[in-house]
Amino acid sequence: MPILTESIGSIPRPAELQEGLKAFAAGDIGAKELEILSRRALLNTIRSLEETGSPVITDGEQTKPSFATYPIQGMRHLDPNGVVIPFEDGHTRRLPRITAGPFRYQMHAVDFFNTARSLTTSPLKQAVISASALSLLYPAEGIAGYSLESFTQDLLDEQEKDIRDCLDAGVHNVQIDFTEARLSLKLDGSKGLLRSFIDLNNRVLERFTDAERKKIGVHTCPGGDHDSTHSADIEYSELLPLLFGLKATNFYLEYAGEKNKQEVLRVLKESILPGQRVFIGVIDVLNPRIETPEEVRDLVLEAVEYIPLSQLGTTDDCGFSPFADDTSTSREIAFAKIRVRVEGTKLAERALEKTQVAV
Ligand SMILES: [Zn+2]
Repeated sequence: MPILTESIGSIPRPAELQEGLKAFAAGDIGAKELEILSRRALLNTIRSLEETGSPVITDGEQTKPSFATYPIQGMRHLDPNGVVIPFEDGHTRRLPRITAGPFRYQMHAVDFFNTARSLTTSPLKQAVISASALSLLYPAEGIAGYSLESFTQDLLDEQEKDIRDCLDAGVHNVQIDFTEARLSLKLDGSKGLLRSFIDLNNRVLERFTDAERKKIGVHTCPGGDHDSTHSADIEYSELLPLLFGLKATNFYLEYAGEKNKQEVLRVLKESILPGQRVFIGVIDVLNPRIETPEEVRDLVLEAVEYIPLSQLGTTDDCGFSPFADDTSTSREIAFAKIRVRVEGTKLAERALEKTQVAV
């Protein structure tokens, strides 16, 4: 039985594109010049991902400002002083907040998908940002003339469209980025915030049929920015039993970076529901050391002791560069690690075939 393996999504942008983005922001180059740089980065990334032997690829999020903010890029009525996300190393990322309604995405994930589709025939996966992450854009004090209820309705409609358009366009599958799941437990130990996030995301997922939900997954991790995390100190046993209550099929979990893997596997086994599949991270994206295929194989063989093979896959712990300006990992290292994941997953497949023959 083939063991499925997929990336999370982002690949570090080439230096040329990084420079171009800065020059564009400063007004030194125009949209056309930036478009040429973006297109070149995209094509190069797609070819490089194909060369890793990956059965499913992404566009490397080359033209996304970040995994979370593409729907609001260029939006008017934004105030930069929104929710702050603190990372372990002391740096922060700050979300903006909206100052007026109605809430409409400036661009949808299918725009990225269609551009990538024109450059490759390989199966393509598309990441979208969760409704729960974007719910943080609504200010706590409210907006005159635009209630939280109206905002939530607009948000749910927009996220449904973000996913549905990709399904209609022939995406291999959609991954909802839900990095704030683990973070929410740090912000609210009572789990009330996590429960409200899951409820909100389920209100979107319930709009899809069972067949459609087979192509919908969720990624969660302790954050990965400038090689630092925001919530790695929260135990998986706090998160996973609730997380698998999401009405999605595929779950992409940070795992390689976990210290007590046996305990994670035990909680996973208890939490995963029939019909769901977990892709465990076998590549640590925060560590520049390139794993060996044998290490990846061994992680899979250990996991199979707990999770049936039909419900198991492999992935990377996170995207390699969720924010466009994060250059903490080189492209070469990212592609090398992905190649190792693909090779190591195949090694595990062969080892398991051999034991089956022996039995
Ligand atoms: Zn992540």
